[in-house]
Amino acid sequence: MAPPLTPAEWRAALRAEGVPFIELDGWTTRGRDAATGKIFGPVHGVLNHHTAGVDSLATIAYNGTAGLPAPLAHGLLRKNGVVVLVADGRANHAGLVAANVYRALVDEEPLPKQDKSETVDGNDCLYGLEVENLGNGKDRYTRQQYDSWVRFNAALCRAHNWGQGSVAGHLETSVEGKPDPAGPVEGYGRRGGFAFTMAQLRADVGERLAHPASWSPPTAQEEDPVNPQYVNLGLVHGYQLASGEWTEIQFTQEWNDEPGDHAANSAVFVAGPARFHGTLSLRLEGLPEGEVVQVRQSEYEGTTLKGDHPIDEVIGTGGGTFRVLPLVNRLGSGRTMRVRLLNQHSEDIEVASAVLKVLVWQEG
Ligand SMILES: [Zn+2]
Repeated sequence: MAPPLTPAEWRAALRAEGVPFIELDGWTTRGRDAATGKIFGPVHGVLNHHTAGVDSLATIAYNGTAGLPAPLAHGLLRKNGVVVLVADGRANHAGLVAANVYRALVDEEPLPKQDKSETVDGNDCLYGLEVENLGNGKDRYTRQQYDSWVRFNAALCRAHNWGQGSVAGHLETSVEGKPDPAGPVEGYGRRGGFAFTMAQLRADVGERLAHPASWSPPTAQEEDPVNPQYVNLGLVHGYQLASGEWTEIQFTQEWNDEPGDHAANSAVFVAGPARFHGTLSLRLEGLPEGEVVQVRQSEYEGTTLKGDHPIDEVIGTGGGTFRVLPLVNRLGSGRTMRVRLLNQHSEDIEVASAVLKVLVWQEG
């Protein structure tokens, strides 16, 4: 036994689920309960419709249609993904529901084909959502609209502790051959265009319900291979840097190396084709004030040095010298990048720590 949501519960459920909504004046007292003498509830599910028209709000909220007084739904889902709350009482949307389908809905069993020999009044027990669409098989549900559609159904299910089996379409319950909802959908999450089906809507509602209400479906954009990977390398121990020759930093500590380019050679931190952006933090011990250690990025093919990038200088401050250097570059196919140091001081110094953090966008 589930009483219908109060207005406060409606708002809380929709907000938690991320459904954009507005409230039509008077929605909290609008309904057919008084006119019919039948109280809305207990509720057993959400029934989905398409409007088969545009700008249907006045019809749904105030005017109704011939022989069918308003309200005609609890909510209207517009093309822009915004739900207009119309009524929280009894609404004229479901009509007669095949009793075998009604029982399956209550039990959250797969919905059988309608047996029309016995019916129940669906307006007693079903929330109704009208989704704006011409219903001509060509008009597409927008991405925002479908996203809100899934969220709206999930919000009501979550609020009542229902599963996706409490979600139905008018075409599944009606004994009068209603065809709605149907039509092409622009896309959802990673999915491009697809044809609306109740099975897919239920699956999408089920996926939402398996996550917290604040969840959003991953989009194709997030899967895009141009999104960066993260490399974070360092040193287990400091090492001596001899005077007067270029040497590569051999990274011996690997906190994170998503591209896996470090594994083959401890000096390599990125392999082309790629772009990268990050920092190298160096701590040097024993570099006297004013003395210089040069730093440069060098490109290799295999073990062959192919090119050097401009030099940065770390100038000794006496005692410990600390510098953060930018690492930004684009690397061609077949090339790897290393960092090299040249100690210009006349004596050995210690590279006490070297921490490299870069984001890598693999290309090609
Ligand atoms: Zn309908």
